This record gives sequence, structure tokens and C-alpha cells, in this order.
Amino acid sequence: MRLLARDLACVEAVELVTDYLEGALSRRARRRYEHHLAACDGCEAYLEQVRATIRATGQVEPKDLEPETLDALVDLYRQFRAEDAAEPTPPTDEPEQGP
Ligand SMILES: [Zn+2]
Repeated sequence: MRLLARDLACVEAVELVTDYLEGALSRRARRRYEHHLAACDGCEAYLEQVRATIRATGQVEPKDLEPETLDALVDLYRQFRAEDAAEPTPPTDEPEQGP
């Protein structure tokens, strides 16, 4: 599986998740990470998943970051992007109708 530069950014971001949540990132790395999150729904969703895992177990197991997991995530991100590209978010112009 060939990774594009943008996908590598996602893999990098995924690897930074635990450090980010532990506050172990430098201010610069943290800014970079947050900048990526702002532009990437996939990584944002993953961050929430990891947060939920930490809440449930108190820690993130190393197995959570196995290469297979990263590959699956990159696929997921590709889907997110494909959906974004194919279908730009339509404005929610449906009028709200009360009961
Ligand atoms: Zn990403």
C-alpha cells in the first residue's frame, strides 16, 4: 500500500495522539497536531476514540497503534476525503417544523 504525503501526515498525527493527550508534546508539535486535526475529520474522530479508550481503561495499549491499525485508519481517512470530495456538505436549509 502506497502512502501519499498527506496520508503520512495522518499516520504521524495518529502516532502523536497519546503524547498529545498526555501533554507530552512540545508547544510546537501540539500546534502542528491541532492544525492537522482542524483540517482532518479522520484524525479528529480518532482522537475522540482514543480519549474514550483512555476514559474506559485509564491508558492506551501499544497494540492500539499497530501498523495494521494505522493502515486501517489511513483507509478510513481516504473514505472521509472521498466522501468530502464527492459530496460537499450541503447547507442545512431544511426549515424546522415543530410538531
Ligand atoms: Zn489526519
